[in-house]
Amino acid sequence: MRNELLNRAIFLINYARRLAESGYLDISREVVKLGLTYSSKGRVRLPLEVKRSFCRKCYVPLIIGKTETRRIRRGYIVRTCNLCGWKRKYPVRNLRGKIP
Ligand SMILES: [Zn+2]
Repeated sequence: MRNELLNRAIFLINYARRLAESGYLDISREVVKLGLTYSSKGRVRLPLEVKRSFCRKCYVPLIIGKTETRRIRRGYIVRTCNLCGWKRKYPVRNLRGKIP
């Protein structure tokens, strides 16, 4: 049951990403939120790269050059959501595979 909910959550969030890539930003946000309700109902933890694939504030899938601006500054990757201005820093070290 748990795995089932987790799989659905991941499927929805990946699907939201494709919607956002096609320009359907509002719908993609709703699909991300739906995916998150699945993961919280099942009390399952989303894999890090999935959790980091959308904006934590406005839930839009983050796509570089479209909804996300990414800069590297003094050993950190700085990600900015182009829609709501949400920012997050990650150290560059040991980052491989942990953000999409
Ligand atoms: Zn945002």
